[in-house]
Parts: sequence; structure tokens; C-alpha cells
Amino acid sequence: MSAREPHRLVSPLERALVVIAHPDDAEFGAAATIAHLTASGARVDYVVTTDGGKGTDDPAVTPEQLAATRVAEQRAAADILGVSEIVHLGYPDGYLVPSLDLRRDVTRQIRRFRPDLVMTLNPQRRLDGNPFIGHPDHLATGEATLASVYPAARDRLNFPELATDEGLEPWKVRQVLLMGIEQPNLVLDVSATFEIGIDALRAHASQVDGDAEARVRDRAREVGAANGIGLAQAFGSIILE
Ligand SMILES: [Zn+2]
Repeated sequence: MSAREPHRLVSPLERALVVIAHPDDAEFGAAATIAHLTASGARVDYVVTTDGGKGTDDPAVTPEQLAATRVAEQRAAADILGVSEIVHLGYPDGYLVPSLDLRRDVTRQIRRFRPDLVMTLNPQRRLDGNPFIGHPDHLATGEATLASVYPAARDRLNFPELATDEGLEPWKVRQVLLMGIEQPNLVLDVSATFEIGIDALRAHASQVDGDAEARVRDRAREVGAANGIGLAQAFGSIILE
């Protein structure tokens, strides 16, 4: 398959792991897609790298209170989407770097869950004029996750203690989907699950308002129209042979 050819989801797709920086990243970027996966019979689990403790302008809320609220909101959103387990790695919000510790932590979860597909955030800062400058936690999560998929999860001599001490054998992921990519090569019609995705987004009550919902809706309409289909979500897809 050439790099330019549009990709499809790998098949069979029994398990997917979504690695994100903050509670709500998955629902902003891919909720309808995740609902599509679980509706198709796949098991989906989440890894959230930070504690989400800085996502507020309210001086009366402490980071600890906010982090607890966001764990509960993430569980509620995941329940709406049919997501199984959520692992919170608990790194401090806003200060994440793609360290070897983070890579080991993500690798551990990939070897535990053994996903066919890993979905994560774009590790590259977009400088194409889009209004979002790119959150450092997103960049770090994307970078550490790709480094975990290859080579760390796949190759036995990377973090050998995971196998010897924890019994976590190497695992080969077959496909990676990146959210927030300028030139996506996988487009999915999510018309059937779109409203489930919106319900899940609304579960992040401390973070979302009507504007956020409208942005997600408009984006799905635009991506769908550009591809001659209904509401759609688009990703950068990498198939690892
Ligand atoms: Zn985020």
C-alpha cells in the first residue's frame, strides 16, 4: 500500500487503546469514532497521561479538586461510549515531556492491553495557521506513544524489566491513528454514532460549552462534505507491517 493511498481500519480489529493527555481529548477528537469501534464489537481502553488539574480559570478550584472532577467526567464519558478501562498515569497537567519514564508507562499499558490499534494525539506542532498553537502535553503524549508503539512495545530489549519483572511480553500494534493531523489519510463516516459522541463530550461538564459542541459538529460536517459522505472524522493513519 502506498503512503498516499487512503487507509481503512485494520481488520480484524478486536482491541483499541486510546492514549491522550487530558480527560476530554478523546471526546473532542474522536468520540463518535470510539463509539463506532465499540458498536462494531471492539474493546476500547484509555490511557490518560496527565491529571488534568489545570483546566480551569476558576481561582476557587484547586488542582486536586479539578483532577478528581475530571476523573469522574472521563468515566461518565467513557461509559456513554462503551469504553472498558481507564488508566490515569497522573503526570502533572501542563508539564508533560516525552521522557523515558512516560515512554515506559505507555509501553507497559500497550503490552497489557495488546491493542490492534492505538489512537493518540498528533506529536507535531501545527504551524499551518490553525488557531490552536498546540498543547505541550498533547505533543509529548503523541511522541511518547509513537515511541512506545515502535520500538519499545514491540522489542524485547526495550525496557526488559517489563517482561522479566512484570511478565509483560512484547506486543506489535498493527495500526496507529493520529488525531489533529493536517492531511489525514483515513476518513470514517460516523453519522450513525455521532450523537452518542456529542453526549460523551457533554459529560465533560467542567470543560465544554455549546461552542465546543458546535465546533465538533461543524468539523464533522466539513470533513464529511469534503469526502461526499455524512458526518465524518479524519485521522492520520499509519499501518505497521
Ligand atoms: Zn488536551
